[in-house]
Amino acid sequence: MNIVVIGAQWGDEGKGKVIDVLSEETDILIRYQGGHNAGHTVIADGQEFIFHLIPSGLLHRGKVGLIGNGVVIDPEALLEEMQRLSARGIDVTQAVKISDQAHLIFPYHKKLDLLEEKSRAGRIGTTGRGIGPCYVDKVARCGIRVADLCDPHVFAEKLRQNVIEKNKIFQALYQEPPMSYEELLARYRGFADRLAPHVVNGVRFLHEAMRQGKRLLFEGAQGTLLDLDHGTYPFVTSSNATSGGACTGAGVPPTAIHRVIGVVKAYTTRVGEGPFPTEFSDQLMEQIRTKGKEFGATTGRPRRCGWFDAVVARHAIWVNGCHSIAVTKLDVLDEMETIQVCTGYRDGATMIEDFPSNIGTLTRCTPVYEALPGWRTETGEASCFEELPAAAQRYLKRLEALLGVPICLISTGSKREQAFKVGCW
Ligand code: GDP
Repeated sequence: MNIVVIGAQWGDEGKGKVIDVLSEETDILIRYQGGHNAGHTVIADGQEFIFHLIPSGLLHRGKVGLIGNGVVIDPEALLEEMQRLSARGIDVTQAVKISDQAHLIFPYHKKLDLLEEKSRAGRIGTTGRGIGPCYVDKVARCGIRVADLCDPHVFAEKLRQNVIEKNKIFQALYQEPPMSYEELLARYRGFADRLAPHVVNGVRFLHEAMRQGKRLLFEGAQGTLLDLDHGTYPFVTSSNATSGGACTGAGVPPTAIHRVIGVVKAYTTRVGEGPFPTEFSDQLMEQIRTKGKEFGATTGRPRRCGWFDAVVARHAIWVNGCHSIAVTKLDVLDEMETIQVCTGYRDGATMIEDFPSNIGTLTRCTPVYEALPGWRTETGEASCFEELPAAAQRYLKRLEALLGVPICLISTGSKREQAFKVGCW
């Protein structure tokens, strides 16, 4: 069975934890979009592992991870990550494969990212790692791919053209010094030698694996509400984080995907700028942020926190075609006396049940809440649904009813063993 795991909110839902549980039933793990702006944190055997570009399921021995064509790769960041994981005993030499169609990030992308964000009237909240500008080059058809890096003549020419063009922008628009082509060429040739043993034809690799009956797990990064098309545009990432992205970003057909699992937190968070209807006011914000350790794995930025938003999650379930949902971080709500769930929005006299595409409406609207009793009991020790306090069971059942899909997994703590399966994937 081939499964896609996606974030059904604004990212950071705890996908890493769910992938870690699912990895035992998987052979090949695939990242299909985004770059090293993403970060999955997995706690296994008391140790914390953070993954940025490498599929997090590699924590399990004997698994192979593919960085698909839809990912944009900063070679320096990838090599660093491989070194870091290797030093902690994870086999990366054989286990990490890179699609030759993936695009490469260069220092001029990073520089552009920062300059553009600074000069924008309203900030998007980019991580400044060059990911957006790299995708811009991909769409503009001047991007440089891994296959180009492996061909010294093609690479030298493509890089030369790109440096000339980017230097024109730096000088004319930003009065910034130009970048040196020779320096970049030498640096990236060094990366090419080190990455070459990992490079594969990603499409062939996955199709051969499927022919052999291997099971694939596609790891979405970020979340549906950050998807370039289906998120809160323009406060989104530059790629398709939704399940459709798994096909285009890995080179497999929709018919190769058998299950889609949406991951939600028992509440909502978002990092960066943009509308967030159920955002808490100050006191609850501090409480949940501290209890849930809501600080970015990649940037350390504090996350904005709010109540569970069923309008958001339902939108995600439609777009991704989720068969089931995994609910994480239930324990973070353990101390709450009352828990609110947003069931719709109100825009003046108008009730809204579907997620609005218009950013103006989303900014203006107010959430309509349903209050449920809290359970005021620790849930971290529960090992099945029946062991959860009655009020927690009621809360989860209400989420299922509001979303129209069954819950397949519940997580009540950051440790590997603090998660249990509830039904079928
Ligand atoms: P991802 O990008 O969706 O994988 O999410 P992150 O890795 O950014 O954030 C998930 C964080 O929450 C990690 O630090 C996990 O260890 C932690 N986490 C995952 N599940 C739970 C849970 O059920 N309870 C608590 N308290 N922490 C969890």
